[in-house]
Amino acid sequence: MSVMEDVFLNAKSAVSSVGKKAGRVIDRSKLRLAAIDIRSELSKKYRLLGKLCYESARNGKNYDRDMNKLYDSISELNTQLDAVNEMLASAEKKIKCPECGVYNRRDALFCSQCGTKLSSEDTDSEEEEEILDFEEEMADDDA
Ligand SMILES: [Zn+2]
Repeated sequence: MSVMEDVFLNAKSAVSSVGKKAGRVIDRSKLRLAAIDIRSELSKKYRLLGKLCYESARNGKNYDRDMNKLYDSISELNTQLDAVNEMLASAEKKIKCPECGVYNRRDALFCSQCGTKLSSEDTDSEEEEEILDFEEEMADDDA
């Protein structure tokens, strides 16, 4: 667990430290690596859980304590994965669909998954002025 916590904390501090600098050069690769690590750790835990399940069914041994530990760490890892995905999405300026939770391109007007209309709030780096202007126009249209 401690390794994963390190990864997670590193990812988090990477985002917050870089995020302060105008929220521009966020180290996405670090976040992606963190997500990959967490996923691989998750699949290890799931595999182990399945193995314990099998052994217990096969040999009638009781692995409840080990399995409970696994449940906990799987939940923990899923929470971390969600958080990393969230950070990654905001680093990539993606917007999460309020309906289905799928991440869409920041300039998407509708969710690619379910078609829900998307609105984006946070906006203020210079490189995005064009998009901003565009969005303002769109907002005017809507009003
Ligand atoms: Zn959606």
